[in-house]
Amino acid sequence: PAGAGKSTIARLVARELGYIYVDTGAMYRAVTLCMIRAGLKADQEDAVGDLAEKLEIQLRTGTDGQIVLADGRDVTREIRTTEVAQLVPAVAKIERVRRLMVVKQRTMAAEGGVVMDGRDIGSKVLPDAEVKIFLTASLEERARRRYEELKQADADVTYERVLRDLAERDEIDRTRKVSPLVVAEDAYVLDTSDLTIPEVVEIIVARCRKAMEQGAVR
Ligand code: C5P
Repeated sequence: PAGAGKSTIARLVARELGYIYVDTGAMYRAVTLCMIRAGLKADQEDAVGDLAEKLEIQLRTGTDGQIVLADGRDVTREIRTTEVAQLVPAVAKIERVRRLMVVKQRTMAAEGGVVMDGRDIGSKVLPDAEVKIFLTASLEERARRRYEELKQADADVTYERVLRDLAERDEIDRTRKVSPLVVAEDAYVLDTSDLTIPEVVEIIVARCRKAMEQGAVR
């Protein structure tokens, strides 16, 4: 779910293993940002689908994390605004948008050597992934983390507002018809509420190394 620490953890795990990090949430965010810029609304599904089909999304590894390019323009910062965060679940619900993103994501993973983060990766996008982790944490802890992150950029943000937004986003993601947020049957559920970032990374890297030793990883 939102705020479980997916991107922070996935990025560090990828670095540790020398793998490429793929942030799939950033892809849905990029589509959402471009939709807003085009003056479209999420209920204009055909138009948003057309836009997603034409949009070229590239994820690059920068020195300070991942860089997101939409049609060649750097949108790394703009996709993190509250406006985008609020609208993205409605865009991520559109079946055609999901189909397009999943194709892109499978292509990125085809060669192996990736750490992919997203709500439907283990359950839908990469059902044969060698290591699957379902990261979670209590709603309060997730809201606290998101609030700490957001308040640096936005002085008006409040903890209560972040908590409400997260709860709302979880609900939409969990109950949507297409690829809802579910735990893949063979995923390892890791509750990070009481763990530090390095501890979480260590647990996951250890599982990956074990899988490698057992020959489960290409
Ligand atoms: O992970 P992040 O908060 O950036 O994701 C933003 C939104 O994108 C989520 O709330 C969800 O609606 C959508 N998303 C998704 N499937 C993914 C990744 C993100 O539906 N694989």
